[in-house]
Amino acid sequence: MKAIINGKIILKDRIVEDKALLYSNVIEGIVSPNNIPEGAEVIDANGGYVSPGLIDLHIHGYLGKDVCDGEEESIRTISAGIVKNGVTGYLPTTMTVDMKVIKKALEVCRALKEESKNWEGSEILGCHAEGPFISESKKGAQDAKYILKPDAAFVKEYADIIKTITLAPETDENDFAAIREICRDTDVVVSMGHTSADYNTAMASVNAGVKHVTHLFNAMTPLAHRAPGVVTAALNSDVSVELIVDTFHVDKCFYDLLWKVKQRKLCFITDCLPAGGLPYGEYTLGGAKIIYRDIVCRLEDGTVAGSVLHLNHGVWNVYKNSNIPLYECVNCASLNPATAIGIQDRKGSLEIGKDADIVITDQNFEVQKTIIRGETKYEA
Ligand SMILES: [Zn+2]
Repeated sequence: MKAIINGKIILKDRIVEDKALLYSNVIEGIVSPNNIPEGAEVIDANGGYVSPGLIDLHIHGYLGKDVCDGEEESIRTISAGIVKNGVTGYLPTTMTVDMKVIKKALEVCRALKEESKNWEGSEILGCHAEGPFISESKKGAQDAKYILKPDAAFVKEYADIIKTITLAPETDENDFAAIREICRDTDVVVSMGHTSADYNTAMASVNAGVKHVTHLFNAMTPLAHRAPGVVTAALNSDVSVELIVDTFHVDKCFYDLLWKVKQRKLCFITDCLPAGGLPYGEYTLGGAKIIYRDIVCRLEDGTVAGSVLHLNHGVWNVYKNSNIPLYECVNCASLNPATAIGIQDRKGSLEIGKDADIVITDQNFEVQKTIIRGETKYEA
């Protein structure tokens, strides 16, 4: 048994002080410091925050490594890198590249998933396949030559490792046959993204089974008052939504508004590229040159390609630029993403019986210690 003392413990509905968090491989309790069991190892949070481990539903790479490398070593490097940002679990995310490359990447993650529960890095919770079933007109930084029509057979073949599939519902022409089949036969969460659907098509796809929206506002039809688009469908339906919270991809003035509308359906993501964790410079992404400067990566033609965000900084960006309580900002990067992929019974909050995935931070949410299933995986 271990006990974290002297921290502000972030629960899903409040922050408590003057308590101790007890854990083994799971959360054991929240007690008065006088009631710490004898023999428990005591860890001092030094007045910082004690947060549930963060969960990133959308991340392509880190420290120069790309999920689409299809290499075990890349996944190990990414996991070991982002654990320093307080990420205890994540969905390695593929892009629209050659289907053979996507399959190889998924197979590598499948082979490592069990080991990742105990290794020296963030746990693989499954994968996010971002494409290749997207709209050419909203491809963003993805490569048009690899775009395919939605194919339920592919998703079913990898349903044990894919947690989320991003697709453009309007390209699933026959009354969303592929979406319906995926939803009928698997637990994979279908997310609309990189889509040029109009509002009615987007709403109809939600009725057909779409449950999530990939990086809201980016690479989709916008909210316009006479052409409401996918963004409005996302806000007007019960789907969960991803938000890149680097203050660039979506302006920070939207944080309060989106919270008011989506509440615990709001999930913060990084959409981090392999340049994450590296200095400014030029890198490659799926063979294309990207330029990383300030807080954003662009292709040579100026197209925004993704972020280099650390998820703990994303939580703090929102907290500092909104009126959302800190515990709800944290929920957006822990409980809400856990709920979106259906693992909230064991991940996402500091509740008794859940996995002891815990982050200790300083007063500014800089990570001091990351604990996964009760084992310390990182210490600043
Ligand atoms: Zn992405």
